[in-house]
Amino acid sequence: MATIYLDNNATTRVDPAVFEEMRPFFCDLYGNPSSMHTFGGQVGHHLDTARERVAALLGAAAGEIVFTSCGTEGDSTAIRSALEAQPDKRHLVTTKVEHPAVLNLANHLVKKGYHLTLLGVDGDGMIDLDELRDAIRDDTALVSIMWANNETGTVFPVQEAGEIAKSRGALFHTDAVQAVGKIPMDVHQLPIDFLTLSGHKLHAPKGVGALYVRKGVPFRPFLVGGHQERGRRGGTENVPGIIGLGKACELAGENIEHENTRVRALRDRLERGLLATVPDTRLNGHPTDRLPNTVNLSFKFVEGEAILLLLDELGICASSGSACTSGSLEPSHVLRAMGVPFTYAHGSVRLSLSRFNTEEEIAFVVERLPGIIERLRSISPFTEEGDAWTGEG
Ligand SMILES: *Cc1c(COP(=O)(O)O)cnc(C)c1O
Repeated sequence: MATIYLDNNATTRVDPAVFEEMRPFFCDLYGNPSSMHTFGGQVGHHLDTARERVAALLGAAAGEIVFTSCGTEGDSTAIRSALEAQPDKRHLVTTKVEHPAVLNLANHLVKKGYHLTLLGVDGDGMIDLDELRDAIRDDTALVSIMWANNETGTVFPVQEAGEIAKSRGALFHTDAVQAVGKIPMDVHQLPIDFLTLSGHKLHAPKGVGALYVRKGVPFRPFLVGGHQERGRRGGTENVPGIIGLGKACELAGENIEHENTRVRALRDRLERGLLATVPDTRLNGHPTDRLPNTVNLSFKFVEGEAILLLLDELGICASSGSACTSGSLEPSHVLRAMGVPFTYAHGSVRLSLSRFNTEEEIAFVVERLPGIIERLRSISPFTEEGDAWTGEG
């Protein structure tokens, strides 16, 4: 049975062209780019090319790209750097729907004595810019707002949010892990100081990412060590990973328009097909301001995990919007922040596509998923009385 992979917001397939680009850097061009000899030094030129490719996708200059090990490291570096570089400012603003890489760090920083304001979202998962305006204080070091949400695909107004942050003297970071490669961007036209991306979300391998740091923005390295990355990130470079990230960014730039039409059309067919055939289904996320590859649906009166298990039997990979915390299934923090009703929040499934999905795959899911929901509803323990989700917990 062939796998139908609809979990691309969790991780993506390494593009075969990316893998081919990386291949020589394991057994042949394995030198250390910091070495004095030609054998190692030549690797440095390939790193330069990769840096230029990443920068080109963002509209940045190569010197503004710092390679990291993952999206989590980029988020941590940006947030900790902003606080460390402005020791008199101890307030941070972010949202309730960030990835744990931002949210759990923010909560950790509160324990260390920093102040935190978490912005809420409306029923579509969208932030309120007036709430952001009110949240910023004189001692706000950084506003960190994700470009696109990994669970719902909702795209935030980063330009407006960045302008508000900058007008009040705060630095602005965006976790763009889900946006890079899916949304065209030109960071030099935007009020962004830091931008995080991760390789494995855009068809590069796991274990590599990048942080954009706008030229002139005060910066403190997170990993203090050697002089790699011009002193901005110690540690011998993940050369094959960086080469792969460069190639993946080049491919993403070439494919971005095509993806926005072809992948979006597949996603729309999936979304419309399911909404039309399965009653009591709701779309989680903004109807229009949304990533072209993501659809998050809630099926009333069923458990998301049960849906995933039955999809898995058909070789279909998806994610649910619940997390198993201390033995009980809790709706995700994103769906809770959106106030999705209890009887819906438990039955949420995220389907996220990539350029490797086909029309046949989508047709198969549209054909089979309604029967799965029907089957589960016929044995569902839920009732209307349980529909009293408070949005807390
Ligand atoms: C996946 C993801 C991350 C974390 O990236 P890693 O490379 O897995 O550390 C951060 N933010 C968002 C929005 C993500 O989707």
